[in-house]
Order: sequence, then C-alpha cells, then structure tokens
Amino acid sequence: MLVLHYTGMKTAGEAIERLCDPAARVSAHYIVEENGMIWRLVPDSRRAFHAGRSCWAGESDLNAVSIGIEIVNPGHEWGYRPFPEEQMASVERLCGALLERFLIPPHRIVGHSDIAPDRKSDPGELFDWPRLARAGVGIWPEPAADHTRGRGRGVGVIEQAGALANLAAIGYCITAGAESTCVAAFQRRFRPERWDGRLDGETARRLGEVRAAYDRARRR
Ligand SMILES: [Zn+2]
Repeated sequence: MLVLHYTGMKTAGEAIERLCDPAARVSAHYIVEENGMIWRLVPDSRRAFHAGRSCWAGESDLNAVSIGIEIVNPGHEWGYRPFPEEQMASVERLCGALLERFLIPPHRIVGHSDIAPDRKSDPGELFDWPRLARAGVGIWPEPAADHTRGRGRGVGVIEQAGALANLAAIGYCITAGAESTCVAAFQRRFRPERWDGRLDGETARRLGEVRAAYDRARRR
C-alpha cells in the first residue's frame, strides 16, 4: 500500500527533525518539500511508523504493508495551504516509481484520513487526488455531469444503508456510531467542496460512482 500524509508542522525542518528523532517514534519512508525536494528517511524494505492505529479493507497493521510519504504542509492546525506545483510534480513522480517497483494496485493508495478517519484529516481536501489519478496514481473517477443533482437533500433509510455499504466496499472501516467521520474522510478525498460528514444525496451518489470505480480496479 501507499499512504500519503501531510506533515502538519510549521516548517519542513521541524518535520524532518521530528521524523528522525527516535524518541518521537514516528517516521516515514519519504518526505517531499514544498520546493519539490525529496528526502528518503527510511529504506523501502524497512517498516516506518507513519500509519498508527488504522484500517483499510479489513487490514489493520498498515505499517507492515505500506510505504509512507510525508508531504510538507502546515496542515489544518498551522495554516493549511495549497500544495505547490513543484511539490505535486515530485509526489507524482515518486508515487509512480514506487507503484512500478512494488506493483501497488490503485485501490491500495490511500490518504491517512482514509485509514484513520477518527483521528486524522491529512493530506486533506486541498490535496490534488484527481491530478495523481490522471497520472495513474490512485482512483478518482470524474463526477458525472449532473454533479449538483440532489445537493443538500437528505437520504432515506434504505439509501443510507446502501451508501454505507458502498463506503465499506471501497475500503473504509466503519465503526458503529462514528459513521460521519468516515463520510467526512470520503468527502475530503472524493467530494472536497464540502466535508461535513453528512450523508446527503450528492455524497450518496458520489459513493456509488467511486465504489463502481474501485470494483472495476479490483477486478483487474
Ligand atoms: Zn498522517
């Protein structure tokens, strides 16, 4: 698997220092600076401590099966901002090389918030997943043209059950009572205009689209 993060610290220097501090017990295989500079901190063959308590498609020891990439950004706590072009170009190139080397299928490329929705919101709604998908990194189906249909409308009980089933089929591990955090994680990644965790008609429709794309990828 490939897990993408933002550093969520004020500066790149601070983040690198922390990721290299044994006492912090956090690490990642790579860090990508805003100017596009890539640093390798942990060899690909070694386990890094980046995923924490997490789960995707029933798998829960994600550090054992994934490469972690930290992307420098102050994050929601210190002034979340767009990821510059130089940085995205490097992320795209690095991911592409890793996918090729380790044969990582597109449905196993995730953001930290996808695998730990109750604790994490990185890399967040400003991260350009569509761009990566166009470069063959991950899945991001274009929304159908009638994109605004059902916006704001609530969904019925049956539709809601179907939507949650789609969420689980994509890979999200849903905890009873905490469904809205999963919905918010889904929205950040696939419907980033609003990530309120509310299962409205548009979110439900988008869930169907994304699930179909994941199903197609898994059948390949
Ligand atoms: Zn993270």
